[in-house]
Amino acid sequence: MADPVLRIDVLTLFPTLFQGFLCESILSRAIERGLVAVHLWNPRDWADGKHRQVDDRPFGGGPGMVLMAPPVVAAVEAIQLAAESPGRLIALTPGGRRLDQSWVRTLAGEARLILLCGRYEGFDERIFEVLEPELLSVGDYVLSGGEVAAMVVIDAAMRLIPGVLGDAESATDESFGVEGGLEYPHYTRPRLFRGRDVPSILLSGDHQAIDLWRREQSRDRTAQRRRDLVDPELAPLPKLKRPPGTPKTPRQTLPLAIEDPLTREPPAPDESAGRSERKP
Ligand code: SAM
Repeated sequence: MADPVLRIDVLTLFPTLFQGFLCESILSRAIERGLVAVHLWNPRDWADGKHRQVDDRPFGGGPGMVLMAPPVVAAVEAIQLAAESPGRLIALTPGGRRLDQSWVRTLAGEARLILLCGRYEGFDERIFEVLEPELLSVGDYVLSGGEVAAMVVIDAAMRLIPGVLGDAESATDESFGVEGGLEYPHYTRPRLFRGRDVPSILLSGDHQAIDLWRREQSRDRTAQRRRDLVDPELAPLPKLKRPPGTPKTPRQTLPLAIEDPLTREPPAPDESAGRSERKP
């Protein structure tokens, strides 16, 4: 079989966690069709001693265990040699740069990724010093291990590989696309649900008008929920509140009052500093 478009090697102490993930839906089809290949490796296979120890207590004391440098570095060096390209090496860690769709697009364009999953308290720092991986976080929260984070990277990247998604699952027109905002709302049958009708424009058959409406919805939704995407200095707008006595109608046509006036002055530069990026 020809080389896959994207080969992903994952170093994990828990390879069985990937079983269901790799065998279902879009990813399993992409693997069957040879577009994506995922190889799982266990650092324990490079550990010494009867117990094949991969973690130890932290120097200086403190809770938990730390992943040891020798088995992880030896594993990565062997994995890098297992294919023609050494690949782009990425360690999953909450201390890394936060993943976003533009980084996902870059990763999807690579021929090979090697993902290192941490566990316990994380990696011995010398793993980073010796291997110099890119450090990737999936968000500002702490998971028990890098496996779920690796699945996030694999899932987000593979669906951008040409041919992986069929027309019905197209990756065009999605949130964080070329225009950078959130996607417009979707509706399907039934037309009427609990007194809520589908916006009439979507039933008009006028594709130009529908396209315009969707772009407006997308713009308004982004401004309302994720203003930081359009202007990184600004936090999302305050929540919308239904004015008293307003009948329940589909959200798109609801007259909305805003708790804080929309017209409030933008924060002074010193107040807004640090809003877009939370410092730990
Ligand atoms: N002690 C570490 C800290 O405070 O930053 C957290 C270690 S966490 C319990 C164990 C492993 O889960 C990490 O080494 C990393 O591989 C993975 N992990 C946890 N949260 C993550 C996140 N937000 N993004 C990427 N990987 C994460």
